[in-house]
Amino acid sequence: MDKRQHIVVVEDEPAQRQLLLDYLTRQGFRVTGLESGADLRRLVDREMPALVLLDVGLPGGEDGFAVARWLREKSGKVCIIMVTAAADTVDRVVGLETGADDYIPKPFDPRELLARIKSVLRRASGSVAPTTGPRVRMGRRVLDLEKRVLVEADGAEEALSASEFDLLKVFAENPNRPLARDWLLETIGHREMEVFDRAMDLRITRIRRKVEKDPAHPEAIRTVRGVGYMFVPPKD
Ligand code: CA
Repeated sequence: MDKRQHIVVVEDEPAQRQLLLDYLTRQGFRVTGLESGADLRRLVDREMPALVLLDVGLPGGEDGFAVARWLREKSGKVCIIMVTAAADTVDRVVGLETGADDYIPKPFDPRELLARIKSVLRRASGSVAPTTGPRVRMGRRVLDLEKRVLVEADGAEEALSASEFDLLKVFAENPNRPLARDWLLETIGHREMEVFDRAMDLRITRIRRKVEKDPAHPEAIRTVRGVGYMFVPPKD
């Protein structure tokens, strides 16, 4: 069984693709090169890679952003790095709103790409641990993922609404990772059909009251300016 982390490179230009395949293989990754979003869909049906390096300019009427959005809906765990061309005039926020973890503009230095890949994979591996247990510490309380309640230090349990639980669960599964507001809305917002940005902020206020030591100065569910929110697990 191949223990190397699997990286998929989606790039329609053969020379670029081959360059990335050779380079990343030499760095010790298992690498698959694909030409299009359609190819990626077929591969993901069989296995979810650790990371997808996704060119924005793809043929076939589906750009990299659309593919990223689809992939993020399939998996909260897979790492996504967008590769943008100068002509894409894309800023960081647009990239992150699709659920991507990072982006790198062309042309790039392979060593910088490698540094970003390692950084994103490191963050993601930190996010695997809490989901292995049914209980995740959040602020002053513990989220019980099986019973769907918040537990106090003295063992008292507080029930959660479906939308509160869904939101806390997404945070619990993605610690130390900035989560875009739109992505959160798309991922968990379907139950109540809320369409306003404000709806997410109001929900965050509600769950902060339930988990933060001091809701006015949140430390567990932090605001990431221009992006959204990030769950930071307790340090001690
Ligand atoms: Ca391209």
